[in-house]
Amino acid sequence: MSDLSETRAILGDLISYPTVSWDSNLAMIGYLADRLETAGARVEMLTDPTGAKANLWATIGPEGDGGLVLSGHSDVVPAAEQVWTSDPFLMDERDGALYGRGTCDMKGFIAATVAMAPHIAAANPKRPIHFAYTYDEEVGCLGGGALMSLLRERGLTPAMALLGEPTEMRVIEGHKGCCEYSTYFTGLEGHGSGPDLGVNAVEFAVRYVTRLLALKDELRARCRPESRFDPPWTTLNTGALVGGVAHNVIPGRARVDWEMRPVDWSDADFVKSELAAFCEQELLPAMRRIHPEAQIETEVIGEVIGLEPMQQNEIRDLVMELTGANDTDLVAFNTEAGLYQQLGVDVVVCGPGSIAQAHKPDEFVTLDQLDQCLSLLHRLIPRAA
Ligand SMILES: [Zn+2]
Repeated sequence: MSDLSETRAILGDLISYPTVSWDSNLAMIGYLADRLETAGARVEMLTDPTGAKANLWATIGPEGDGGLVLSGHSDVVPAAEQVWTSDPFLMDERDGALYGRGTCDMKGFIAATVAMAPHIAAANPKRPIHFAYTYDEEVGCLGGGALMSLLRERGLTPAMALLGEPTEMRVIEGHKGCCEYSTYFTGLEGHGSGPDLGVNAVEFAVRYVTRLLALKDELRARCRPESRFDPPWTTLNTGALVGGVAHNVIPGRARVDWEMRPVDWSDADFVKSELAAFCEQELLPAMRRIHPEAQIETEVIGEVIGLEPMQQNEIRDLVMELTGANDTDLVAFNTEAGLYQQLGVDVVVCGPGSIAQAHKPDEFVTLDQLDQCLSLLHRLIPRAA
């Protein structure tokens, strides 16, 4: 069987596992573990605290630092609310394209890496080639975070990682982070006629939002001239401001939902420390003068670290050379790539299929894209191994 037919067959199997983020991915991870083990890999299934999900970490070649990680997420977004031409969890081939939930995001890449495993084993690599398949990427890169903690614990630092998110095989070396927060204000309810007897949570929330607005300008001023992002600075958005019950009641509770898209982690730290100082030094003392139990608490909904374009990046240079790309791009979507970068691994995002089809009904990947991916892997692995 050709590598492409093998990839198509594996992809058909993978699509039949409905690994929607909130459901278990264990059956599919078990299938992948079997395939890789049969090909000659050492395989570990690393379950999450609930035991319902697992990362797969597999290695061909020696243990230790260096080498290459082929990385993909096993979960998919739901298809239930969408109208599909064919069953989203039964792969269908039409006009040179394979349809099904996860075909491009990103089981097509995973299938290609599994199809390559016997070739990798036969080549007897001098450096480790790892396979990393994670859970819960679509809901905040939870599995990726757990995998990085494990690698850190083991003191293991691969040299390079290739993330096969759908980029139509273009070379992506950067994206912003995505951080979402809910900030809760607890004041003291009272009658509207006596504003000094209560602590108006909505008014303090408004002051907080006003600080966010000022930070927007400060972030713009911090923008580095070499930034290629669009817009080039770190952005903030106030998504919701909720609170209050009636015209004549001092609201005791309020909530601000806000997000930040940091260009780099120092901007994120800047915003968080500025807000913490503002609450500690201005808002809370004012609230607690009237009501000592007043509170401001921020819940982290998700913090996905961005991927910062680097001067030195071995895997980017390799993938550019091997795909014949003249330039690289930045994208607006989030990936696990920043997690690898944080660990000190050179990382690039390049995979089959288009993000335009991801998360949509009738998601597909073309056989041509899978073929291009296989040909990249065929050339990349001898160089990395
Ligand atoms: Zn994805």
